[in-house]
Amino acid sequence: MSINLQSYAQLLVCPACQSKLVVDGRSFVCRSEPCRLRYDVKDDIPVMLSEEAQPIALEDWAAIMAKATTRS
Ligand SMILES: [Zn+2]
Repeated sequence: MSINLQSYAQLLVCPACQSKLVVDGRSFVCRSEPCRLRYDVKDDIPVMLSEEAQPIALEDWAAIMAKATTRS
């Protein structure tokens, strides 16, 4: 059984900058352009630690944000 990441995304914020998050596959991405951290979900548990998060490239982030806003 898999958790609903979309409902998590509405509850959680980025621990680094307190911005909202969007779902990308099985991970969360921070909505803040200067921050752009990706948080993985391991064994259905979101790993909301800025030390564990991966920064993503600006163009990848922009594509994720565009996809996320058209979906909702
Ligand atoms: Zn952030």
